[in-house]
Amino acid sequence: MPQCKKDGCREPALPTGKRYCVSHMAEYLRKQKEYAAVSATLRCCASCGTKLTKTGHDRGDLYCASCVQRYEARQVEIEKSSSFETVETVDDLKQWIRRYMLWPNKKFTSRWSVWWAL
Ligand SMILES: [Zn+2]
Ligand SMILES: [Zn+2]
Repeated sequence: MPQCKKDGCREPALPTGKRYCVSHMAEYLRKQKEYAAVSATLRCCASCGTKLTKTGHDRGDLYCASCVQRYEARQVEIEKSSSFETVETVDDLKQWIRRYMLWPNKKFTSRWSVWWAL
């Protein structure tokens, strides 16, 4: 008989399901239900419709992490090409290289979702 997989629990696991004993299985189901209830109240990403994480929701994010990431990458590309057009001097060029070639992944703000919503 396999043991309950909960740390420190020596009860035999139920033959079906998640390898929990009777009481831990009940706890698992209760938590799952709580999670489903919370999950139902979470906003969806305004771009792709994926449910936001609890943290993102509580923070007031409008977009999921992967949309923010995609958006951010696109913004960097846009900014990169448009700022190159303004390069006039060698110093400008140096600065441009420093900004876009040396640290291409440097983030310029951590509050993208708010910024994006404007
Ligand atoms: Zn148990
Ligand atoms: Zn999304």
